[in-house]
Amino acid sequence: MPDICHLIRHEIAQIEPYTPVVPPHVLAQRLGTDVQRIIKLDANENPYGPAPAVANALADIAPYAQYPDPDQTRLRAALSNYTGQPAGRIICGAGADELIDLLLRLVLRPGDQIIDFPPTFGMYAFDAAVCDGHVITIPRRDDFSLDTDTAGWASMSSRVRALFVASPNNPDGSIAPLKQIDSLCRCPLIVAVDEAYIEFTANRHGVSHLLEHYPNLVILRTFSKWAGLAGLRLGYALLSEELAEHLWKIKQPYNINVAAEAAALASLNALDYLHANIARIVSERERLSTALRAIEWLHVYPSEANFVLCRVLRGSARTLRNALLRDGIAVRHYEQAGLRDCVRISVGLPEHNDMVIQALHRIELEEEQTADL
Ligand SMILES: *Cc1c(COP(=O)(O)O)cnc(C)c1O
Repeated sequence: MPDICHLIRHEIAQIEPYTPVVPPHVLAQRLGTDVQRIIKLDANENPYGPAPAVANALADIAPYAQYPDPDQTRLRAALSNYTGQPAGRIICGAGADELIDLLLRLVLRPGDQIIDFPPTFGMYAFDAAVCDGHVITIPRRDDFSLDTDTAGWASMSSRVRALFVASPNNPDGSIAPLKQIDSLCRCPLIVAVDEAYIEFTANRHGVSHLLEHYPNLVILRTFSKWAGLAGLRLGYALLSEELAEHLWKIKQPYNINVAAEAAALASLNALDYLHANIARIVSERERLSTALRAIEWLHVYPSEANFVLCRVLRGSARTLRNALLRDGIAVRHYEQAGLRDCVRISVGLPEHNDMVIQALHRIELEEEQTADL
């Protein structure tokens, strides 16, 4: 029998597998309940779903038997209109996740480094590891703000090739001030600003105006959150034409399937509908945050995204997450450094958010009763 273990790249064999969210039907099975009863607030998905026009567009696709457009011509034209950036500065990926992977494969040689600002989205460090890259960790401060001075110093090392900043940051929802992004862009690195949640902020153009000045800036966006298309996998990058030229060379030619293309085009034609739902989510985010702040055993962080991070001041985040799960409410909990005892709750429909608040009050009562015994 041939031994395959030694064929696996050593650095890959070392990687801890990424733990993605559990799909609702699996959760329902584990809980012995109906999938309809699961309230999924663990992956920042859009509770309103996609625009209704998406279903029609998907039903109408004729050329399933043909390969999709490798140049993403229609999609980039529509995105040019949406972002105000020329089509030459746009490249689409199968989710923003694919673009993170491609960017790192473009610049990281084995042993090279990236700068990461945890707690943050896990894919930057994960994809760097796949390239046999190393991560220079510059922890965020207690309020999740960035230490850009340290990043500036770290960027001088010749092995550092890229840095990643999520803004708004996942999992807390804070935005990096423009001045900080501007100063980071002066680092001699690829500076990737992940704006997956930018549509939930007051300025949906984010820092895209900086593209004029910085050929090393890459802005990552996605249709997963605001447009409700997480299942179809569509993201895009805004970047200099110079950088785009090289990214095109390594992109799989047919990375955007015809369904994702049709759905994205339909979404970009239904902006009024989608923006109305974004406004509902933003207003619910504020209502949910206020209600959570009234619970004295939670510390609630300010968020400009479609989720709210809370630190559990009594008991553990795991216990809280399990208690909510018994009510069919799935939230994400954390145990790593900087996020100990934190849970992230995605903003759901108003009735979902009501159920979260009620469940938390009930959990509080139960705790008090046990404490009384
Ligand atoms: C959800 C998320 C993404 C992933 O986007 P996809 O387009 O679904 O791959 C990227 N970055 C951040 C910060 C996210 O939270």
